[in-house]
Amino acid sequence: MRKIAIGTGTPPNKSAKPTQTVGQAVAQGGPDMARIKKAMDSIDIFSEEGVIDRPTPKQTQVYDFDFKKDGRYVLLDTLPSHYRFYAFREIWIRPLATPEGKLIFMAKKSQNIVYLISAVQACINVDVNDLIVQDFEYILHWLRLNSYPKKPFKVEWTCYNEVPVPAPELEEGEEPSQEEIDQEEPETVECQYANLTALSRSNVTINDLDSDIEIPVELTLPTVRMFQETWVVNKQLLQLKQELIQGAEIEDEELAELEGQVYVANLAQWLKEGDSLQEKIQLLEQHPDLSLQGTIEDLRDRLDDFGVSEVIAVQCQKCGGTSRRRLDIDYLSFFP
Ligand SMILES: [Zn+2]
Repeated sequence: MRKIAIGTGTPPNKSAKPTQTVGQAVAQGGPDMARIKKAMDSIDIFSEEGVIDRPTPKQTQVYDFDFKKDGRYVLLDTLPSHYRFYAFREIWIRPLATPEGKLIFMAKKSQNIVYLISAVQACINVDVNDLIVQDFEYILHWLRLNSYPKKPFKVEWTCYNEVPVPAPELEEGEEPSQEEIDQEEPETVECQYANLTALSRSNVTINDLDSDIEIPVELTLPTVRMFQETWVVNKQLLQLKQELIQGAEIEDEELAELEGQVYVANLAQWLKEGDSLQEKIQLLEQHPDLSLQGTIEDLRDRLDDFGVSEVIAVQCQKCGGTSRRRLDIDYLSFFP
């Protein structure tokens, strides 16, 4: 029976470096981290009208280094959550530089998201682990747009707009045939043009968090910290499925067991209580009935559209017709 590592930080790929949190990476002297020092434990609490999301100081950190003297840093223009879950009210950010480019290269080579998260950490002045996943994704988009201005992320799509059949070209002095004149409405055909549209600030939609939405007191939105841990088990499941496709003999029970663990892990990361995914899973499994699970599923459904929209608006370069296309962005292939 395969051992399943939930929350132990062991990546499925034995040859890869052990998963570590960004905090550990920083402690070990990650790139650009030497000058980042922890500070500001007591930060003023942001609360919206009627909503009190009081994070404990340990949940939110702001790195008090001299980023304002570093001309590369700018104030992040917006954040899908409007800072509702944090003790800080602004994020300073700079584009990626070579050390982070190296980390992204390492992330892609090792298929280990921890390096990507470390790269993001190096470019912002708050603890990336505290960010909710939707805000993290927005920051990924910001970094992608602002770090590679000459190499934008491109979306390939075929235009299926109906366009009029082009009129036959007439020789000089030639008259259109009676049939062509009689034709009342021009026939149409699918444009079929193969487009390559660059992702830009104008075609990506950000769905902000509805300020009216109530977050049940026992829940929070999954953070990067939890996402890292669930990503490990989700990846294990994906690998097992790939092995299955490639003809490996895997017992049904083994697959079902992992499916079940991923299901619970994905739910548990919404719990406010518990410091690790393991603890959250225990809390969820110890709940005496299904009510907590139902509350999580309900909130998750309501927040389905929140964050960077997976659908972008595109315009055909040939016929000018507009369309919408679903993006399927994988964190590890999003960067060049
Ligand atoms: Zn077209």
